[in-house]
Amino acid sequence: MALNPVRVITEKRQGLAHSAAELEAFIQAYTAGQIPDYQMSAWLMAAFLNGLSLSETVALTQAMQHSGSQLSLKSVTAFKVDKHSTGGVGDKITLCLGPLVAACGVAVPTVAGRGLGHTGGTLDKLEAIPGYRVDISARRFAEIVRTVGVSIMGQTAEIAPADKRLYALRDVTATVESIPLIVASILSKKLATDSDALVMDVKCGRGAFMQDLAQAKSLAKMLVKVGQGAGRKVVALLTDMSVPLGFTIGNALETREAIDVLQGKGPSDVVELTLALGIEMLMVAGAATSRKQARALLQKAISSGKGLEVFARMVAAHGGDARVAETPSLLPQCKKPVPVLAKRAGFIFGMDALELGLVSVDLGAGRTQTDQAVDPKAGIVLLHKLAAPVRRGEVIALLHSSGRAKSESLVERTTAAIVIKTRPPGPTQLVL
Ligand code: URA
Repeated sequence: MALNPVRVITEKRQGLAHSAAELEAFIQAYTAGQIPDYQMSAWLMAAFLNGLSLSETVALTQAMQHSGSQLSLKSVTAFKVDKHSTGGVGDKITLCLGPLVAACGVAVPTVAGRGLGHTGGTLDKLEAIPGYRVDISARRFAEIVRTVGVSIMGQTAEIAPADKRLYALRDVTATVESIPLIVASILSKKLATDSDALVMDVKCGRGAFMQDLAQAKSLAKMLVKVGQGAGRKVVALLTDMSVPLGFTIGNALETREAIDVLQGKGPSDVVELTLALGIEMLMVAGAATSRKQARALLQKAISSGKGLEVFARMVAAHGGDARVAETPSLLPQCKKPVPVLAKRAGFIFGMDALELGLVSVDLGAGRTQTDQAVDPKAGIVLLHKLAAPVRRGEVIALLHSSGRAKSESLVERTTAAIVIKTRPPGPTQLVL
């Protein structure tokens, strides 16, 4: 019997469960262009509102994984660990973490994504480097992983093509923040890439797709369960995303901050999270016998400059200008950033990561429609971290863009998103 998309949408709208065969046929027909985006959008919203069971999530993940072909990394003999973040604001960790872990002898094949909603995407950040190509072939990807140790590329047409289209569609149909849809999206492309293990950074807080700890825990558990069920070693860390990571939000700005980490002068929170995830990657690969040893190896890769060297080699292998590793000022830069001033004296008490992510999108760093180009220069530089004392009238942030930053409402929104109180906030924890 031919698949009737209206019946599939109706079933989900009524909260009924799909069979694995039905999901497989639905995803197959969508990938083949037999189901239009408007019907898929309706199904996504029904799935968002009524949820998918564990077995439906497994079936959807497998259907999306098998919508393309398996990327073979047989030529890479080193243990292969991939890392993925569920998405946050100012999250540039993949850019510095991959080269550092590769510098410690573990292969890091990463298929990354673009910005989604208010969160930034690793590919958009890498493309801020003049010449960097994310659209390389699977064969070239394997070659770079084998010779450099790390490659970060975009989904090719063969890797989980259903996810590629669904990801873009979810971004513009308000259907991102759903545990089963996130699990299927992340794991379909991760499982289609031939890594031995996965380390997940599951973000929790205002700037994450999961805002409370219980939801983030469920997401982490489901990622681990579905990933392990598919035969991979999977580790997940729950990490805080109530405030942006580091001092920068936006593509070139974040790439520059990731280079700072590799140059040994990164912001403490970005360094701490890079080390925390790197430790898990080295441990799961058996490249260290204790967390203490793993930390020391990663720190050595920073202090010796080996991580920076690997980063430069990866950039060159992708056709990018590797001089940015030593001279990040070669990255595109906004000439006249617009200052945001403190309206009162006090302490930085909070920063609304979601709103700052949305302001950054409106400055041009992200998309509101699938086919939009991003402005590599756009974004926000925060001048302080939580608990810093500030004076009235002091510059607390700078808005970067190629022209839109003058908008008063963006300045006002940024002012409102950075909360100043007469007392500092209590201590916070990055790895939850
Ligand atoms: N990252 C992904 O790859 N997919 C999602 O749905 C969310 C974050």
